[in-house]
Amino acid sequence: MTVPSQGAEGSHPRVLVLGGGMAGLSAAVEASEAGAEVYVVERNAYLGGRVAQMAKYFPKLCPPLCGVEIHLKRLRTTERVHLLTNAEVVSVAGSPGAFRVEVRVSPRGVNERCTACGECEKVCPKERPNPFNYGMDSTKAIHLPHEGAFPFRFAIDFDHCDGVTCAACVDACPYEAIDLEEQARIEVLEVGSLIVATGWKPYEAARLEELGAGRIANVIRNVEMERLAAKGGPTEGKILRPSDGQEPETVAFVQCAGSRDELHLAHCSAVCCLASLKQARYVLEQYPEARITIFYIDIRAPGRLETFFHELEEDDRVELVKGKVARIDEDPATGDVTLTAEDTLSGRKMSVTANLAVLAVGMVPEATGAGLPTQWDTDAHGFYTVNDASVGVFPAGCAKRPGEVSACVKDATGAVLKTMQVEADQMKADPMKAGR
Ligand SMILES: Cc1cc2nc3c(=O)[nH]c(=O)nc-3n(C[C@H](O)[C@H](O)[C@H](O)COP(=O)(O)OP(=O)(O)OC[C@H]3O[C@@H](n4cnc5c(N)ncnc54)[C@H](O)[C@@H]3O)c2cc1C
Repeated sequence: MTVPSQGAEGSHPRVLVLGGGMAGLSAAVEASEAGAEVYVVERNAYLGGRVAQMAKYFPKLCPPLCGVEIHLKRLRTTERVHLLTNAEVVSVAGSPGAFRVEVRVSPRGVNERCTACGECEKVCPKERPNPFNYGMDSTKAIHLPHEGAFPFRFAIDFDHCDGVTCAACVDACPYEAIDLEEQARIEVLEVGSLIVATGWKPYEAARLEELGAGRIANVIRNVEMERLAAKGGPTEGKILRPSDGQEPETVAFVQCAGSRDELHLAHCSAVCCLASLKQARYVLEQYPEARITIFYIDIRAPGRLETFFHELEEDDRVELVKGKVARIDEDPATGDVTLTAEDTLSGRKMSVTANLAVLAVGMVPEATGAGLPTQWDTDAHGFYTVNDASVGVFPAGCAKRPGEVSACVKDATGAVLKTMQVEADQMKADPMKAGR
């Protein structure tokens, strides 16, 4: 991208990117390489967002952390990007060209001297459910967020730390990297425009009572399947069913679990079909004798992704059933699950018994109710529609609409171009003020 005209001599456009997932990181890279001073505000202790939690990327089935790493490498070569992790926006005031944003940076408890040697973790007495693995295992209160985390540094979950009475980690750390007294701080950032890349979260599957999520051990969500298949997951990448750790021989996927359903998520999340097709491959790669059933309403695999679908469609081990699953029941003796559906094409009611069922739950916009300004327009599903130079706020990635990574990356580039428009408008209005 060509470097844009800048504001007052020697100054740069200033952009705040809210969310450090693939959309946010893409925006940060593009904006900084176009000459902007960029602040990335990320709530987690690490960057990469949900993509860091995937086992592999469709369509190439490469490790997702590669994509994140390429961005981070580009970010490391510029001093114009300021990364704030453990951080959340508290308030946004002002107008395009002159926003004042208050950011709360929560204590990480571990500073840059940390080498991730793990001595602290060995002595920490407290366990906490591991959110990175969707609670399927636990970590110590002091933990490395995940094996490829950036920053590659431990963090303390102060909700589970006994720092008042215990300082075992401080004593064990050879690098004096731990500070149990660290306090939250407020940083005030003055920027010209904002890119909102706050992404998505999985639909709360417990609300799909008839499908048994959270009640039946061997009914899991697609996001959990990603972690079961990932090397850093709770089973070190081996897909095992939760009830007894057995290798599944039969796996059923339930598409549109809650999606395209007025009672739950009315929208289509665009990626769930491809995600399940990808996950069917995970299973078949590990267990070539396995049988897969995929219940679907429509398979949505547009453009170049269609080939990915056809490859599986032709596989004899995969049965595609056009029909919405009405309920899932558990056999308490075996842990197996029986899915009841209507085969739409034949009109017959059918049931399939499997060792494991995977619910393809859709994407809910993460930022809904996250304390961000309510005047930023959203659609009926909570995705941001605000997208106007006169507001100075531009959504990117899944904050705007559900989609796969390549779409989010393109979106981010578009959002960056719009921040340049804000800058240009400021220049026209008052050349002396622009870019400060
Ligand atoms: C089961 C499943 C499998 C998938 N597999 C693939 C695949 O193989 N290939 C593919 O291309 N796509 C895949 N996707 C889609 C992919 O996950 C998304 O395209 C991608 O995560 C979108 O990136 P994002 O940056 O928009 O959002 P996110 O990844 O959600 O990142 C948003 C970031 O913003 C942060 N954040 C949120 N709120 C705040 C706040 N208030 N303050 C500060 N920070 C905040 C979050 O912590 C997060 O780091 C899959 C989706 C699902 C459901």
